[in-house]
Formats: sequence, C-alpha cells, structure tokens
Amino acid sequence: MSPGSSLRIGRILGIPIYVHASWVIIFVLITMSLGAQFTQQHPQWTSTQHWSVGVLTSLLFFASIIFHELSHSMVARVYKIRVESITLFVFGGVARITQDPTKAIQEFNIAIAGPIASLFLGGVFFALTLFFPYGTMTGALALWLSGINVLLAVFNLLPGFPLDGGRIFRAIVWGVTKDFTRATKMAGTSGKLVAYGMIVFGAGYALSTGQWQAGLWYAFIGWFLLNAAQESVAQIVVRETLSGLHAADVMSQEVPMVPRDISLEDYSQEVLRTGRRCHLVVTDDRLVGMMNVHTLNTVPRDEWANMSVQAVMIPRDKILWARPEEPLLGLLERLLAADINQMPVVSGGENGDNSGAHIIGMITRDSILRVMRTRAEVGPLLPTK
Ligand SMILES: [Zn+2]
Repeated sequence: MSPGSSLRIGRILGIPIYVHASWVIIFVLITMSLGAQFTQQHPQWTSTQHWSVGVLTSLLFFASIIFHELSHSMVARVYKIRVESITLFVFGGVARITQDPTKAIQEFNIAIAGPIASLFLGGVFFALTLFFPYGTMTGALALWLSGINVLLAVFNLLPGFPLDGGRIFRAIVWGVTKDFTRATKMAGTSGKLVAYGMIVFGAGYALSTGQWQAGLWYAFIGWFLLNAAQESVAQIVVRETLSGLHAADVMSQEVPMVPRDISLEDYSQEVLRTGRRCHLVVTDDRLVGMMNVHTLNTVPRDEWANMSVQAVMIPRDKILWARPEEPLLGLLERLLAADINQMPVVSGGENGDNSGAHIIGMITRDSILRVMRTRAEVGPLLPTK
C-alpha cells in the first residue's frame, strides 16, 4: 500500500485521516450489496430510500473502522507513542505508529483497544435496534452495523499477525518469554496459519454454497494476511541482522564532490567516468547542495549542456543527514521513507543547522544491503558484552 495513492480527508484529534485509492472499490461493493439487500428485504421503501440508507450505512461502517483505529491510537498516545496517520484501504484501516511499543503490556493494551471499541459500537447499534424495529430505516441500518462491528471485533481477535489478535498473542508471548524476536516469529507463524485457514475456508465456502464472490473475498483477505505476516517476519529478520550496527560502521569515507558551476553535461561525464552516483556540491570549500544521478535524470537530456549543477541540485537545507552514531535500522527506514538512496554522514555541529559540522562519509542503501547480505552469509556478530 503506497502512501502516494492516498487522499487526505481530514484530521481527527490531531491525527490525519487518509483514504487509499483501493478503498473506493470496497466502498462501492458494500454500498451495492447493501442497496440490493435493502431492496429485497424492504419492498415498502422507495428506491431512493434503499440507496440512501445503503450509502449512509456504508459510510457509518467506515466511520466505525476509523473509530476502531482511533482507539488504538489513543492508547498508543498514553504511552507517548506518536500516531502518524490513519489510512482506510480495501481491507479496512491501519493506524501508523512511529515506533514499536517498548513493553509487552503496552502492546497488549494498544492492540486490545481496537476490538473493544468495535464491540462497544456493536453494542450501541444493537441498543438502537431495540428502539427502532427492522422495518424502519434506522432499524435496518443499526442492525447491519451492529452485526458488522461485532464481526470486525471477532475477526481482529484471530491470533495471527498482523491482526490485533496477533499483536495480543505476541504481547503475551513477549511478556512471558521476555523475547521480542521469538514472540514476533511465533505471531508471524500463527498469522500464516490464520491466512491459510482463510484461503481454505474461502475455497470451501465457494464450493459448498456456490457463492463464488464471497468465497473469493475470504480467499483474497487470506492472501493479503499471508503477505502481511511474511512482511512482519521479514522486518524482524532485518532488525536482527542490523542490530548493533551504526552509520559509521558501513559508511564509505570517500565523499565525491563537484563544483556548482559545471554543466549537467560535464556532471554526466564525471558520473560515467567514475561510476559514482552521488556528489556533494561545493563552492570555496563550502557545502551548497547535493547532486545525484536521479536528479540529473529529471532534466531532459538536450538541456544538459545549458544547465548548471547548481540549478537542479538538492539545496543544502533540503539534504537529509545521518549521524555517525545513528543505528542502521532507523537510518534504513529513513532512506526508504524519503525514497532516497544516499545520505551524507556528518559529525559535530550540535545546533541543528550543521554550521559547525563536517561531512565524514556517505551512506547508501546499497552499503546497508551489502552488510545485510554479508551478515546473512557469515552469521551475526557474537555479542561482545
Ligand atoms: Zn485493530
């Protein structure tokens, strides 16, 4: 799910809410199926009523998902974990938090808040059905929302990563064994089992009832969960391989430089001659920016002769820096998040603007991947403590 194809729809309690392009598919599907269901079950309503209640119910369903994600977010905040965003996408919602909880009990509480919130909503909507009979529009809407929220809670409690139940499961194993990595691997494995279970259930459902669409849908969710479970285990492997390493360990100490007034044509020659893909741009020994192959390629080739490096380089204040003591895992995450391939490593200059700082090396995605590959081949460093 790339954040690029998401649309920001607003902000609740300071948390930006995004809607991913894939969300539109599920919104249309649910609204259609609700419209059809209401048409069949309430022949006394007009067709405008069928569809407006269908749309409203669908919207409230997605509001319920936001409520679920917000409740995770609020508990995360109690532990001073910042919530970056909430995104709705084809399979529901996801609250993006900036770091993993540091204690098992925190993870447990953050995870369980969501299903509790959904159960609570299920109860509220069920209470509404006591006042509004099913024949009324409010009654029909409330009954469906009550059922779906309970279903959401139950589904999310399945004990496999990346579902809430998987996190609860991980938190319990983590709390008991004090071993975060092992707990994650176990939750990942049980996540795969849940995912395969969903796929098999979907196929069986389709075969036994002849309802291919519903069956396919379960199988599709299973497939999504399988990917997510594998991803979360892969993340742990990366975390393990990179643990204990810092920027200074893998940075290259050579820092290629180019003057700012050379043309892009000359710059391309320099790149082709040396194979180096990133350069610091300097003038009178002062750093003014950074230039790389990616930026070069944003300019049409026939303009290279008439344009200087200075005109297109990444200016000094836009450059992202790394510190030599920065842990590699966080650094890799920053590189990926900003979608860049390399960062200068600077030391000194504590006042934020890097005025007293000097550049001691360059770190690239490749160099981090290389150390990961090597560690995978040779095995991890033995703890020296
Ligand atoms: Zn949840």
